[in-house]
Amino acid sequence: SVIPPENTKTGIYTQYDIRHLLGEGQFAEVKLGIHKKTGNYYAIKIIDKKKFLGPKLSMGRNKLMDEVKILTRIRHTNLVCLEAIYESENYLYLVLELVTGGELCDKIMNKGHYSEDDSRIIFKQLLDVLLYLHSEGIVHRDLKPENILLAQKENNTFIKVADFGVSRIIGQNQYMQTIAGTPYYLAPEVLVQTEKGGYGKECDYWSLGVVLYVIISGSLPFKDKPNQEKSLQQQISTADFSFPKEKWSNISLAAKNLIKRFLTVDVKKRINIEQALKHPWMLKKNCLVTDLL
Ligand code: ADP
Ligand code: MG
Repeated sequence: SVIPPENTKTGIYTQYDIRHLLGEGQFAEVKLGIHKKTGNYYAIKIIDKKKFLGPKLSMGRNKLMDEVKILTRIRHTNLVCLEAIYESENYLYLVLELVTGGELCDKIMNKGHYSEDDSRIIFKQLLDVLLYLHSEGIVHRDLKPENILLAQKENNTFIKVADFGVSRIIGQNQYMQTIAGTPYYLAPEVLVQTEKGGYGKECDYWSLGVVLYVIISGSLPFKDKPNQEKSLQQQISTADFSFPKEKWSNISLAAKNLIKRFLTVDVKKRINIEQALKHPWMLKKNCLVTDLL
């Protein structure tokens, strides 16, 4: 291994029984891992180094390992924590806390959508966890229901956010290029500026707005339909979305207002997390009709 042994370890197969596939994402396969010594269960995320680490590795291993160290220090009840990292010739193995409730997006597909009260419970955890990540200098950049896991099967509203900090390991530019392939949750400034990467934590605020829209209604605000006059990218860059009556007639104005405040193209006018925590919808209060204009 090229990575200094104090930071990553080799020989993951001597330490863990690696079992069946738990899930697949854009960057990795995730498999069940049983720690041989303790019998504890983990999720092992396996990243193909050739595919994803090329540019980052050539930037210098020490920098990469600094990122890894930072990520193993990050701990929050609503985050899938990173326990350890192993490396082999071709792969990087992230040993993660195992989460058993499945993806939020599957839950939404089965349920249709969440009630406003349950949505608020979920959303509060998302705000808390992003506030924490941002305070640690980490922008998630790929917040979407596939990356929001349910902590337990028996509980619909206890969530754990997965996949944080990946852009720090893989390299921001390459990361953004790959996730730009599924832009439903991407902020306009990210879509336009993928090359430079000159955007900050506000891109997570935008994604929060899309996620809230999806949790409450079970549908996406920006869609990629073949007969649409505006492309997905055009819709996002002008915040061109609506609250169709079939799904939104019984939803409070406060919820709609909060979503609008997040889905604001101008990053300076977009609502931030501190403000969102005090928004009427979070406090279970009503909004005026004029707030929606
Ligand atoms: P990628 O970076 O490739 O998108 P993710 O971290 O999102 O990878 O993981 C891909 C999928 O694997 C997730 O959508 C989920 O279904 C499953 N998964 C990821 N982390 C865990 C975990 N800690 N416990 C259980 N399943 C997980
Ligand atoms: Mg993912």
